[in-house]
Amino acid sequence: MPELILPTSLIAKMDKPGPRYTSYPTADKFTDAYTFTQHQETLKMLGSNYHNEPISLYFHIPFCQSVCFYCACNKVITMHQHRADEYFMHLIKEIDLTTQLISKRLTVSQIHFGGGTPTYMTDEQLEAILIHVRKKFDVTRDVECSIEIDPRTVNYDRLNRLDDIGFNRISIGVQDFDGDVQKAVHRVQPFRQVAEIFLTAKKLAIESINVDMIYGLPKQTPETFAQSLETLIDLKPDRIALYAYAHLPERFKPQRRIITEELPTSEQRLTMLGMAIEQLTKAGWDYIGMDHFALPTDSLAIAKREGKLQRNFQGYSTHAKTDLIGFGVSAISLINGNYSQNQRELIAYEDALANHQLPSFRGYASDADDLLRYTIIMQIMCQGKISFSEINKEFDIDFLNYFKHELLSLDDLITEGLCYYDDEQLVVTNRGWFLVRGIAMRFDKHLQNRLDTQTRFSKII
Ligand code: SF4
Repeated sequence: MPELILPTSLIAKMDKPGPRYTSYPTADKFTDAYTFTQHQETLKMLGSNYHNEPISLYFHIPFCQSVCFYCACNKVITMHQHRADEYFMHLIKEIDLTTQLISKRLTVSQIHFGGGTPTYMTDEQLEAILIHVRKKFDVTRDVECSIEIDPRTVNYDRLNRLDDIGFNRISIGVQDFDGDVQKAVHRVQPFRQVAEIFLTAKKLAIESINVDMIYGLPKQTPETFAQSLETLIDLKPDRIALYAYAHLPERFKPQRRIITEELPTSEQRLTMLGMAIEQLTKAGWDYIGMDHFALPTDSLAIAKREGKLQRNFQGYSTHAKTDLIGFGVSAISLINGNYSQNQRELIAYEDALANHQLPSFRGYASDADDLLRYTIIMQIMCQGKISFSEINKEFDIDFLNYFKHELLSLDDLITEGLCYYDDEQLVVTNRGWFLVRGIAMRFDKHLQNRLDTQTRFSKII
């Protein structure tokens, strides 16, 4: 188990903004130099070079009925259900245009609906999307089909229906059970709402229940958060994603309504993280890394033990380097190292589709160095280890020479006991797991000489 105490001097030194590395390069490197035509060509190539490797699909549903003040997602706050009706038609059209370009039936092993609030769509709309997906793709028998659930919009009947439609994994946004914290972030959801979903999901034998929690929210203290974690432990979710709240009010308007003085200090945040790791691991969850925990029987914990863990836009994943096609406003696709993002404004997204065009507006084509660094950074984030000989073999390089500056830059982290390396490998220590983003950042070429990391990324603690 990771050591829980880090010296204050180290906290102060490492308490800096940094990417979460759900992609490399990070999305802020996407530009319109990656054109719509390139994205079309990438989709065509995906079809023509296809050899039955399963892919993943992501659907972004942007609508929410009310705003949570900590929110950094791309969402549209509305009470007008007809917005979802129009959006549904556009999603269907986007699937059609995409599959026409690919012009081959691809195998899909993972489908995820995220938001916003995916359950803003009606059950009929969600079902129709999945039926359409099955018309256009070969969906595997054991597909992981997951949906993010806002407990305020789903009850017993609704969850039954979602299960019937084919969703076999759910992710519940809880964040904190404490009433004062919920009020401070404008997301009040009584415990009974969450408990009802749990009871129903367990009765339905939903394969995996994930809960999202956030530490670092206003009004949170280590004591109140410990109590929330005890409540969570009693519910026994299969997976827990424990995110650090990233306070970036310059970038995210809803966060301007958070009272800065009510936010916990860096020391309190680290205490909460350390405490959470201790409470959850003692109660039986495996610490997967950075922000994820899983019961030992869960596929994520098994993948971690077997060294097969991956990272994608949803966080840690069991699916090895699968290509991903994103549908919906702001959704990102990753195909063969090429990133493409859809229009981020709903009106621009819908306009493109109304004109029978895919809504891609920017992206990034990874070069050989990006692909190499992607692998290095993901191995640090997922396995906590890099085998130099394996990298040398895969990329035909001499690791020690290629990364000599990066390795030299690790000196201070090695002195702090966060990682070490020899001629064979680089290893993240138990202590280093707390600060793994800080280690990965040393291999990020795009971060060098950047002046805007303060406002662009969340703090790594
Ligand atoms: S946190 Fe989720 S539910 Fe809340 S406003 Fe943002 S997207 Fe909507």
